[in-house]
Amino acid sequence: MDVKDDLWPIRTEGRGLRRALTWNRLISELVLPQHPCDDLLAHFYWTLHILADGGPRLFSPLEWRFLWRWLHLWGRAPDFRICSGCGRSLSSSSPALLTEQGILCPLCPASAGMKVFLPSLFLQELRSAAILPRDDFLQVQLSQNFPKEWDNANRILESILRRTY
Ligand SMILES: [Zn+2]
Repeated sequence: MDVKDDLWPIRTEGRGLRRALTWNRLISELVLPQHPCDDLLAHFYWTLHILADGGPRLFSPLEWRFLWRWLHLWGRAPDFRICSGCGRSLSSSSPALLTEQGILCPLCPASAGMKVFLPSLFLQELRSAAILPRDDFLQVQLSQNFPKEWDNANRILESILRRTY
């Protein structure tokens, strides 16, 4: 059976196309040639569909979703439930810190490296973007309060991916 899927909305929207090509390049860099990675490629394929359907407001949250789920496939995704420093439960009403070691509670000091402060609302948005089913993700209402933080958080996930490889 031939599958024809032109993903036209991505091809006609420059910023969306740029994101797709960036993710594609990252996969090419981090996956060994001849190494089977069907689950990652399926995840990439479905991410492109969300990119086509979601529009620019979801570009950065979708990148977070793509990278977090990729890390999840490799067993390295930051845990939203417990602090990666001390193992305490992360409260949905307390701020936290995203680092290259994972998500830290307010009591744990961060080591050197990239970090993003997570007000409780932003932590909830990161969690939603990562774990919501596709249709719920497409409908999710995000605060729009954290444009820079989304991109900084994405760079941290990319850094974790590069260290995992
Ligand atoms: Zn802690």
